[in-house]
Order: sequence, then C-alpha cells, then structure tokens
Amino acid sequence: MNTRVAVLTVSDTASADSSADRSGPTIKEIIGNRTSFECVESLIVPDDVTLIQKTVRKWTDQGNIDWIITTGGTGFGTRDKTPEAISPLLKREASGLVHLLLSSSLKHTPLAALSRPVAGTIKNTLVVTLPGSVKAVKENLDALLSNGVVDHAIDLIKGGSGKQVHASMGSGHGGHDHHHHHTPRTHHHHHDHQEPKSRVLSHDPSQAVSTRNRISPYPLISLESALEIIDKTIQTLPIVTLPVNSQLKGYVLAEDVYAPANVPPKSTTSVDGYALRSTDPPGVYKVLTSQTHQLSVELPQGCIYRINTGGQLPAGADAIIMVEDTKVASTFDDGEEKEVETLAQVDPKENVRDPGSDVRQGDLVLQKGERITSQGGEIGTLAFVGRKEVKVYRKPTVAVLSTGNEVMDLEKQTASGHDDWGIWDTNRPSLRAALEGMGYDVVDLGIAPDEIDAHVSALKSGLSKADIILSTGGTSMGPTDLLKPVIERHFGGTVHFGRVTIKPGKPTTFASVPIQSQSPGSDSAQTKQIFALPGNPASALVTFYVFVVPALRKLGGYPNEFCQLPRVRVQLQTPMRLDPRTEFHRVILRTDLKEGTLKAFSTGGQRSSRVASLSGANGLVVLPQKANGMDKLEAGQMADAIVIGDIQMTA
Ligand code: AMP
Ligand code: MG
Repeated sequence: MNTRVAVLTVSDTASADSSADRSGPTIKEIIGNRTSFECVESLIVPDDVTLIQKTVRKWTDQGNIDWIITTGGTGFGTRDKTPEAISPLLKREASGLVHLLLSSSLKHTPLAALSRPVAGTIKNTLVVTLPGSVKAVKENLDALLSNGVVDHAIDLIKGGSGKQVHASMGSGHGGHDHHHHHTPRTHHHHHDHQEPKSRVLSHDPSQAVSTRNRISPYPLISLESALEIIDKTIQTLPIVTLPVNSQLKGYVLAEDVYAPANVPPKSTTSVDGYALRSTDPPGVYKVLTSQTHQLSVELPQGCIYRINTGGQLPAGADAIIMVEDTKVASTFDDGEEKEVETLAQVDPKENVRDPGSDVRQGDLVLQKGERITSQGGEIGTLAFVGRKEVKVYRKPTVAVLSTGNEVMDLEKQTASGHDDWGIWDTNRPSLRAALEGMGYDVVDLGIAPDEIDAHVSALKSGLSKADIILSTGGTSMGPTDLLKPVIERHFGGTVHFGRVTIKPGKPTTFASVPIQSQSPGSDSAQTKQIFALPGNPASALVTFYVFVVPALRKLGGYPNEFCQLPRVRVQLQTPMRLDPRTEFHRVILRTDLKEGTLKAFSTGGQRSSRVASLSGANGLVVLPQKANGMDKLEAGQMADAIVIGDIQMTA
C-alpha cells in the first residue's frame, strides 16, 4: 500500500497568499513522483503554535496518514515556532532523523546549524519538520528518501519487522536501535518494544556526583501522551467473587447479572385491603386472616381474606378490594372484624402485583463493566433480586512511600536520615487520606532515606504486598534522586516517562517492573507499575489526581469514560497567567444557579511546595500552554477544570 503523506506549510506570508508557497508544492511534486507515495492532504497555516498543533492533531487522529511533512518555521527567527508546536505532541522522538536532516543540510551550508528540526512519531504517524526554503526541502527530502530511511521508519511504525528494508540496506542493524549518546535526548521506547541494550539509563547513583546526567535523558512528553501511556500500560486486575453487601462499593462488575428468580416471587397485593374473587358482587362477607386461613387452601365462597401491602394472595383469590372501599358489618367481642361489607365490584387482577412484575427471572439487571457505586443503587439492585455473590474485578491495593533524608514522620517525630533538621512528611498522610477516601487499601512503606538499599528494600516490600506503588520525592536531577536509577538498575524496570510538560509535576515518573508470576502459566500481570511522584506536597497531590487515579481505576476495571476524573467548563473569577507548560491551577468550584454558571475561584499562591493551595480546593483548572498572542486568561473567560471534590453552592 502507498505511504500516505500530508504536507503542512507553515508561513505567515503563504497563509495570506497561497501563491507565495513554493516549498509546499515542491514537496508534493517530489512525493508525487515516487511510486509508493501519495500526497493525500495539504494545508497552509500561519506561524501559530495552536493552529499548527490543531492541524497535526487532526491529521494524526484521522489514522489514515503515515507521514506528516511540515515546511517552514524551523529557523532561529522569533516568528519561527514549528518545533515548539510539534515537540510537545511527539510521542517518540526520532533524534536520528534530526541528525540526518542537519547533516544533509550542513553539507551545503554551515548556516544549517541554525535550523532546529524535530522529528518523531505521534500515534502511528511519522512527523518531520523541514526548513522553509525550497533548496533545503529538496536536500532534506533527498536524504530522507534515499536508502529507504523513511520507508523503513514507516514500516516499523506500522508494526512491520522492517526485515525487507534491512536486507535492501545490506545491514542487520535497524535504524531504530541506533543510539547517539552525544545527543542529550534519547527517544523513549514503549514497553512492548524490544529494549535495546544501549539504552541510556538514568545516572548510576553509586558513581561520583560529577558523573550524573546533566540533562535528563527522559524526553519531555505532553499531558495527553502521558495519560495515553498509562492507559496502554495498565492491565485490569483479575476477577474475584465477593459476597453482596455494603463492602462491594467501589468494585466494577465482571459479569452480566441476571435475576435468579421472579420479584415478587408470588402474587402479592400493592394495597391494604381484602383478597377476593373478582366475580364476588358487593355485599357482606366473612373475614378470614392469616390466623384463621392457610394461603394454600382455596378461599371458601362467601369469605374474603384480610391482607396488607406486600402480602401474598390466598389460592382462589384474583383481586384485592382496598380497605377504603369496605366497611365493617359486624365484630367479635374483642373488636376483631367478623364480617365486612364490600362496596364495589373489583376487576380481575385489581391491586395485584403479579409474580415477576418488578423483575422477571432471567432479566438482565446489571451489566458487566458497571460500577458498584457508594450511591447505593447497584448494591440495592443486587440485593433486591436476591444475588448473594457476584463477580467483580479486584480493587488495587496501593503502597505509599515517602523518600528523603530531610523527611520526618509526624507520628514518630524522627527524621529518617542523619540530618538534624527536616520537614514533616506531608505526602504519605495526604495521599493515604485520598486513597482511603476512594476505598483503596493502603500499604504504608514509611519513609526511605536517600540510600539505594533503603529504596530497594522499600520497593521490594511494596511489590510483594501491593498491586501498585506510589513514591514521592527523589524524581528530579539531584544526585540523591534515586527512584529512576533504582527502578532501572535494581529492578530491571522500564521508565515509560520521566518528564511531562505540566506544572506542577514536571518530573512525574511512571515505570513498570517485572515481577515473578505467582502461578506459572497464569495470564495475570507480569509487571507492576510504580508512580514516582514529585516530592513537593502540592505536586504530589495534583499528579495523584491527574495520573494515579486513572491508573487505579483502570486496574479496578473501570470503563474508559470513568477512568479520568471528570472535566467541566468553568468561568474563571481570577485572571490566570499561562505557563509554557500545561498548568493545573487549584480552585474552588462553586455553582451559581442564578447565572447558570460554574465559577472557579483561585486558592491563591500556586507554588508547588505550598500544599495550602489544595486545602479547600475541589477543582484543578487545566490552563492551556502559553501560545503566541496569549499569555493570560482573564477573569470571566472559560476554561476546563478537573473536578476533584464536592462542588460548592453559592451561599
Ligand atoms: P525531591 O524530589 O526529593 O528533591 O523533593 C522535592 C521537594 O519536596 C524537596 O523540597 C523535598 O524536601 C520536598 N519533599 C519531598 N518529600 C516530601 C514529603 N513526603 N513531604 C513534604 N515534602 C517533601
Ligand atoms: Mg528528596
């Protein structure tokens, strides 16, 4: 099948006058002349980050485009923004292609050193940014198309083995596992790919401080990519059978539930009154009760049977006359009714609840994938139909670890290390409260000092006792930041991402470590996941809500549309400055029923060490990345907010 190409010209001038676009048509011509390529889309946009991103997102979302080539906006000029637009979207960076582009241009002019190309993949699409000049476009395309470089790349992206191309290149060495150690950023390998031997790891913490990486080897990825990686990596836990009681809240059904029997099981009455035959005319009848008559015995002629709501009809009776339609005719000495006069003729089945009229045996009452909420409706339904046990997905047990020599346990009042000053461990109590509030069992791994052994033994313990580990601290570039190196070097783990373009929470790290399978041959998870969250208290909680909650929910079998906490549109009551990173601004969300709006009030200073910005907060406004022409949202403007707590009413 042909390789489908989309061409995006980025130029203020060309977007005003499309006849000024020379390089776009050049690309289309070169591509069109190749037999195995076809150009399926092309567009001109101005040098505008948002518009570039919108177009590229649309094309990569379409799923039918193999290669996006942009031209323009990669230079050093202040208007040039293409790399800034594309970089955050890249799921996997291809630094090798960047080298190829630069070296091909450098052959022609040293000024190519001022070009800032980026390349990589978004979903299953290869994206390459070319300079704006026709000459450079030709040189770069020539380099990309010769020796099957792009053919091979696209073959690999589509899941092919790439063997054919290898053979034609006369080399057994795939372009995808070349590593350029002199480039600061290596591209990230997704867990289901073969891990190449030469992968750049985090620093070896047992070596001298000076040997540590001075630039993080982990690519900065976008919020969306990070959420996607989490979703792809986490596997739902196995199914268990549990008794139906209040403890079932928070689980997700792993089976369709059918009613085991009719509800009600027999004919019953929906009113208080007297059971009789619908053929009985108005008149005086002898009153029978449960004391004087057995239900299984045919109701004798001339008698009616006193019955209360929910009670079962005696044999022979087919209707109930309401007590309001009768009057007492005679009584016994103790005041008991002896005879009652019926004042109306009732219809067959009147006031009768037939067997199975609420739920019929075999009816589907709840479906696989439905959440058993703490609102009570689902547990009520299970009990109503008489289900004693039900199959659900296991809920994750979560281990929580704090790290840092300076971190002290509030309850033990001791520092974990040797420093004689410290800060109170804020993250274990706050995360634990959030987790328990959501109904998860928590394993407390305590505080690990900044030593490799302490980290290794804490993580080991967590892996054996819990389904997932949350650690805080030790994720930045300091020589005592041990999480990434310990995960990689001591557990043979894979860091899926180690940096995200968000604020707070940039060093949020997500990793998988292999585990010994409990039962050989079982298909249960062969890896467990670790979130190494940033140490600053507000960062830890924000990243918990943004990244960890979806992971826990996926583990517990939540359907996709419930994994992330919900987002709503809110009206800002405070102006908010934008950051180059996606920022989560802690707010109080309040409904204003008079105006019909949901209002967001800032909780004040947003420093990531300031956990107070989260007290009282029930929402996180998701501030978009700063783009040209927009560095601030004004009060009154609308934004998305993640709901993390109960929404307030306006007093
Ligand atoms: P780190 O990533 O370990 O350098 O931590 C970043 C910042 O968060 C440092 O100022 C730490 O002192 C602080 N920090 C780390 N862990 C905790 C914790 N459990 N409670 C409160 N602050 C912490
Ligand atoms: Mg630390």
